[in-house]
Amino acid sequence: LNGYVGFANLPNQVHRKSVRKGFQFTAMVVGESGLGKSTLINTLFNTRLYPPTEPLPPSAERPQTVAIESISADIEENGVRLRLTVVDTPGFGDFVNNDESWKPIVENIESRFDSYLEQENRVNRQKIIDNRVHACLYFIQPTGHSLKPIDIEFMRQLHTKVNLIPIIAKADTLTDEEVADFKARVLADIAYHKIHIFQAPTYENEDEEAIAEAEEIASKIPFAVVGSDRLVTTPDGRKVRGRAYPWGVVEVDNEDHCDFVKLRQMLVRTYMEELREYTNDVLYENWRTEKLISMGV
Ligand code: GDP
Ligand code: MG
Repeated sequence: LNGYVGFANLPNQVHRKSVRKGFQFTAMVVGESGLGKSTLINTLFNTRLYPPTEPLPPSAERPQTVAIESISADIEENGVRLRLTVVDTPGFGDFVNNDESWKPIVENIESRFDSYLEQENRVNRQKIIDNRVHACLYFIQPTGHSLKPIDIEFMRQLHTKVNLIPIIAKADTLTDEEVADFKARVLADIAYHKIHIFQAPTYENEDEEAIAEAEEIASKIPFAVVGSDRLVTTPDGRKVRGRAYPWGVVEVDNEDHCDFVKLRQMLVRTYMEELREYTNDVLYENWRTEKLISMGV
């Protein structure tokens, strides 16, 4: 079941009506080049949404601004259709001067709100297309130190506009102890700067199992992940998604090796609908209210 993505759980998360229409979900990935963003998206959705690319040679012309690229795919699992859009932000953090790298990203998120508002205001509101960003995976470089100014600035600027999910990239480059220390420092920085990251909601009337699951997921934030869209063979002969090293294999789907499984649970299997709801009910609604006030409505 390694390759099983798990959004077939969605019918448990939402009403049957949307099952027939299919689901729209838009995820954004942000972080410096080479942190494994494209690989992780492929791993999460078990697709080749992003084909393997060669890194640019140092001499190549590079764009001077953050680009925003969006790519969509229809994926189907157990009869449930998901229209997945991934918004990539190549160039973020890659320049000599990264001041305001967050700006085009905020603008992109707001223009998606704008387009939604415009559709809501139409006389015919039957076919509203929801292109709003429902989750933003923010990739933190596995330095082992703490957050960088660019990380803090990005999250401070974005946390009221999008569900932020912080991720420690390429966790296989850190030891278990380094991961634990790094996580603690990242969380301390996030708390100090009063950054709001997405929390799985728990409801009063929920059963113990669901509460335990939410707590377990929450305890892994920021998720230390390893991505790979390749199968490798373990020393004991199992074929797994992972990364092979001279000393052994890091398994993507093994919870003793990294937090990939918990991240997928948060994003896809358990809380995809919560991410969409929070985007609509809180993030979009706050933005809309402010916009109307600023327009003097
Ligand atoms: P992006 O620029 O952030 O989209 O990064 P890519 O997904 O293109 O990956 C850049 C390089 O890092 C590729 O050679 C990947 O094989 C490698 N890579 C991706 N994920 C991981 C990971 O979790 N651990 C390690 N060690 N390398 C990774
Ligand atoms: Mg990429």
